[in-house]
Amino acid sequence: MKPATLLTTLIVTGMVLGAIVGQFALHGSEIGGDHWTKVAGDLVLIRPLKLLVIPLVLFSVVAGITRIGDPRKLGRLGGATLVYYFATMLIAVTIGTALVTFFDPGSLPPDVQASVRAGGESAFAADASLSAKVDAKTMGGTWTNILYQLIPTNIVSEMSAGRPLGIIVFAIGLGLALAAGGERTRAAREFFDAGFEGLMTLIQWVVWLTPIGVFLLVAWTVGRIGLENVTGPLGGYMGTVLLGLLIHGAIVLPLILRLFGRVRPFQFMGKMKPALLTAFGTDSSSATLPVTIETAIDEGECSEQAGNFVLPLGATINMDGTALYEAVAVVFLFQLYGIELEFGQLILVVVTATLAAVGAAGIPSAGLVTMVIVIAAVNGSLGDAPTLPVAAIGVILGVDRILDMCRTTVNVWGDAVGARIMTRITPDTPATPEA
Ligand code: ASP
Repeated sequence: MKPATLLTTLIVTGMVLGAIVGQFALHGSEIGGDHWTKVAGDLVLIRPLKLLVIPLVLFSVVAGITRIGDPRKLGRLGGATLVYYFATMLIAVTIGTALVTFFDPGSLPPDVQASVRAGGESAFAADASLSAKVDAKTMGGTWTNILYQLIPTNIVSEMSAGRPLGIIVFAIGLGLALAAGGERTRAAREFFDAGFEGLMTLIQWVVWLTPIGVFLLVAWTVGRIGLENVTGPLGGYMGTVLLGLLIHGAIVLPLILRLFGRVRPFQFMGKMKPALLTAFGTDSSSATLPVTIETAIDEGECSEQAGNFVLPLGATINMDGTALYEAVAVVFLFQLYGIELEFGQLILVVVTATLAAVGAAGIPSAGLVTMVIVIAAVNGSLGDAPTLPVAAIGVILGVDRILDMCRTTVNVWGDAVGARIMTRITPDTPATPEA
């Protein structure tokens, strides 16, 4: 059996066993954030992966850019990548908005509506850290924050805070300078190239912990939420998110890959399985990034030039699954509170959900928090009519983790498809032009 196939088999086994143990051995008892399954899962998988992310972003972007060398080529790659990110997120969000409007999962019998609303609001009130995070979110604040992150003043503090955007910008600049330096900077180019190769080897080792980590984290999630919650009053909402993710991930993105990347989409999906399953298990595109880069380049035939640029950037800003989910969740909550949205307001949802997804970090539950931006924008357009209380987010809190696993998988899949398409613009060429 090929190592990649063996790894995939082990991860799937871990996942299935995790769900079984979670449902039958853990569910029903008190399972909090400090349960041993979560602690062990963090230690085995999440923390080692996160440890790799920051050095990896620096080395992979510098190595990728020095290989591209030519700023014009980089401009073309950068432009095409951004167009791809925004176009696919807009498509995802449009699918979500259309589905949630069509299925109308928030229109429940009035007594059910009232009890779901009350339960949600008290869950929100009970979660002090969530309300604090939510308070800090405004549209303007988010944009200044992103801009400040793009142009930081101290690269070391960005690294220690684990904020990748500034590191990416710095690495692009440094990579271009090293490429332009010709013979004088050759040693530094080789240093970043070799450092990147070393990190990839390290990742290949760490990846073998994924099956155990995924087992523990899935057991924790299922133990806490319970599979039966997939039905009930929130079942329609969850079904709508999942259907949307399925349409986007299994139909739209494969079509785009086929058309623009000229590769067989499902064959590529099969090769990317270790990364997709890690995304599902860890709930974090950022923690998955090491596995995504390794799998895309070694198994998925993505070029280093494209993969090293598209994947780190994508893990931070390209989130198709999150964008789709935010649109469905917000419209659902408005339906549940009996507030009808007009066409113009749905357009507002489409636009702001895309931006909110860009602003969401690649960490668990980030989308749940940035959703407040969308709610605030729609509330602002309602004038004197009743608005949606932010505490309504509490309604979807309990089931969020399961949806987060699925939307993170689609986020990572979107990045991988992007890297495969961009490989056509920048296939790997052996040498950096020497001056
Ligand atoms: N967990 C997601 C990710 O890491 C972000 C989110 O939607 O909450 O991609």
